[in-house]
Amino acid sequence: MPFTKLGLSDPLLRAIAEAGYTHPSPIQEQAIPAVLKGHDLLAAAQTGTGKTAGFALPLLHRLSQQHYSSNRPIRVLILTPTRELAAQVGESVSQYGAHVHPRLKTEVVFGGVKINPQMMRLRGGVDVLVATPGRLIDLVNQNAVKLDKVESLVLDEADRMLDMGFIRDIKKIIALLPKKRQNLLFSATFSEEIRKLTTGLLVNPIKIEVAARNIAAETVEQVAYLCNKTQKAELLCHLIKTEQWQQVLVFTSTKHGANRLTEKLNKIDIKAAAIHGNKSQGARTSALAGFKAGHVRVLVATDVAARGIDIALLPYVVNYELPRSSADYVHRIGRTGRAGEEGKAISLVSHDELPALKQVEKLIGAAIKREQVSGYEADKIAPPMPPEEPRPQRAPRNNRNVKSTGKAMDKVKSIINATGKVKTSK
Ligand code: AMP
Repeated sequence: MPFTKLGLSDPLLRAIAEAGYTHPSPIQEQAIPAVLKGHDLLAAAQTGTGKTAGFALPLLHRLSQQHYSSNRPIRVLILTPTRELAAQVGESVSQYGAHVHPRLKTEVVFGGVKINPQMMRLRGGVDVLVATPGRLIDLVNQNAVKLDKVESLVLDEADRMLDMGFIRDIKKIIALLPKKRQNLLFSATFSEEIRKLTTGLLVNPIKIEVAARNIAAETVEQVAYLCNKTQKAELLCHLIKTEQWQQVLVFTSTKHGANRLTEKLNKIDIKAAAIHGNKSQGARTSALAGFKAGHVRVLVATDVAARGIDIALLPYVVNYELPRSSADYVHRIGRTGRAGEEGKAISLVSHDELPALKQVEKLIGAAIKREQVSGYEADKIAPPMPPEEPRPQRAPRNNRNVKSTGKAMDKVKSIINATGKVKTSK
């Protein structure tokens, strides 16, 4: 179905054409008509599906069809978990609304930067406000925003907002909105907490599921390289070099880990930059810009910092460590295989992470292919043995191509229960 059949106005179709989109993505095909009609929406969709345009285009259409008063009250409020996502959504809204006349005003507010300039920018009134929940509450407390004319509320990446502890802020914000309004909720995963939130929030929502619930993007090939924890950095360098990866996003579980890995990579002339919560907004923005422009080959990120960042057609994502929560795995690999392109998600899995790997498989409802890289095999580590059993013989350290060491390896094999290639299916 072409975009022209969805009922969007010409200025929006013009912006869509300029963005180079020819056909709506599956979520857009379903969400756009529903939002145009004013329905509430419950959408199971992760980043990379085109969800932003899925809500932004019809909301802009609705705004542009209405007469508005000169004091420009906020009519569309979009909440996102992170600054990066807020900035990105704000950019998309401005881009899609570029030809709408009279021009709509979009502002983005998030924490970690000075509040005063944001207060100044809000003073003249805005039509669309994109905000992270904490900063929005601060602005409300300072009387810098009024939310009593909001017609549509979008909770983008709602699961992530709850993970980050924003539930109270979200509830406070919702209490400030008019009772009668449109609610759109987007989430990659559906936990009990999300279900609770949606029950009180959405009225007869249209339900959209573009990938099966909690299932990783279909275009992402997933593989787990079983390896020794102490060899992960070496293995990563080896993969970057031999596979000639030019643009790879690497996830670590800690800020320190991200810094250490970045240093190691830079030392061997693989240009890397880290983004995490201890980095200033400026440092994060420049690391991301360098990565997008191709000056930075490896972007090392923690989950929170990388949330929602949009890098078109990212070919590789590496889980240097598996995330603590399986849902984060789904979020992480959502960075690759974007907009129908093939992508590959590689997890470096040490023995102690095998239970986490199994959890991930349970969540995505599919097995992940396990492999070993010659010279970096997992059989270099003995599995923890019960005390009554004799310690297994270990392979000689210098013999890198030895794959099995008898009893110990049998045990590892039985634990890891190797499976076939996985491309997840519905
Ligand atoms: P999102 O899931 O909203 O983060 O979007 C993911 C990426 O897909 C962004 O880079 C968008 O610019 C792009 N995109 C959104 N809609 C389309 C479309 N209909 N055709 C091609 N690319 C799109």
